[in-house]
Amino acid sequence: MIKKRRFHVLLVLLFFSSTLYAQRAFVNNIIHSVNIDSLMLTVRQLSGDTTVIINNNIDTIKNRYADSTDIKKAANFIKQKLNSFGLTAIEQPFISNGYNGKNIYAIQHASSASYLSQKLYYVICAHYDNLPKASINYGADDNASGVSAVIEAARILSRYALPFNIYYVLFDFEEQGKIGSDFFCNTLDIGTIKAAINLDMIAYDGNNDSVANIHSRNIVGDDVISNKLLSVNTTYPIGLNLTIINPPSYQSDHASFWNYFMPAILFIEDDKHDFNPGYHSINDKINLFNKSYYHSMAKLAIGALADFASDSLTVGINDIMLKQNEIFLYPNPVKNQIHFSHIHSNKVCIKITNTNGEIIFDMELIPQQETITIDLPESIANGLYHVSLMSDGEMINRKFITQ
Ligand SMILES: [Zn+2]
Repeated sequence: MIKKRRFHVLLVLLFFSSTLYAQRAFVNNIIHSVNIDSLMLTVRQLSGDTTVIINNNIDTIKNRYADSTDIKKAANFIKQKLNSFGLTAIEQPFISNGYNGKNIYAIQHASSASYLSQKLYYVICAHYDNLPKASINYGADDNASGVSAVIEAARILSRYALPFNIYYVLFDFEEQGKIGSDFFCNTLDIGTIKAAINLDMIAYDGNNDSVANIHSRNIVGDDVISNKLLSVNTTYPIGLNLTIINPPSYQSDHASFWNYFMPAILFIEDDKHDFNPGYHSINDKINLFNKSYYHSMAKLAIGALADFASDSLTVGINDIMLKQNEIFLYPNPVKNQIHFSHIHSNKVCIKITNTNGEIIFDMELIPQQETITIDLPESIANGLYHVSLMSDGEMINRKFITQ
């Protein structure tokens, strides 16, 4: 009897797990389209292992150190690649400490006419600059591996009409302190980014154990991304050994999204126990790559993105603001009071979060008039904060500075 009962329990479990995580044909197709030769060719081109043709000239990208002559070639090469898929590559220049940097990105616009879809973005990103400062400096794993996977995502997904917008972003000046991604994230509207997947070093597995790490904070937005990677890895099945790292590292561009209150994770090789020995040296070359591991890493990142961007069931009315431009927060910077104007509902809930994701203020109230005034806690430190205001199933997200 006992044995029989266990068998039934097992069947029930199998039934639930297969219904919860059934394969979707579209995602399966995308994962099978991820091509290791295509990935490796782009890595070789970015890391000077083979030539590139830029503006009809044969050339070699010998390094990608910030503000060098050769990183400008890399930027042009990336633009050319994105444009070749029918996307429009955009340069986003910025200046830091007198140096000129530029992010390169392309947007794949949502095919759905739904307002919710049009307002929401998924991000896949990687930095394209590298270290050390040397005239020849390959940066194959750090981070031609990530850049090539973003370009591969664009190559495959740009052929489809998807309900959500996708940002394909390649950041500059990561190695100088995440400067490019900070600049980029500061231009985004809060609440519009559903998930950002940052790829930084995804091709080294020296001991063949298939371990990969997901750096994620223990908060809802990040968990949604981590869980997506975990479920795609088992459902399709990709076969990586994934570990969630929390507390996470802040040492790559995902942390810029966090600083501006957007959900993100870092997807990286085993940076705890089996890290690339060529890291930040002139030995960071493709000869250290584990190609089948790299292929799996790219499949998982692109598969997770495809699953997100094609699944209209992931959109909820509470996920974004419907009337972002109607409610105003002022003043900003804030001293000790914040005002919200144009409130038209009977009950609102206000939540203020710091950049670590900790809630420092949480209150429900019944507005007496169209403008609400909130007294900030006296203990509040100067800095950047996120406030969300929920009313009648809508959510308004804003950032503000206290000083
Ligand atoms: Zn890196």
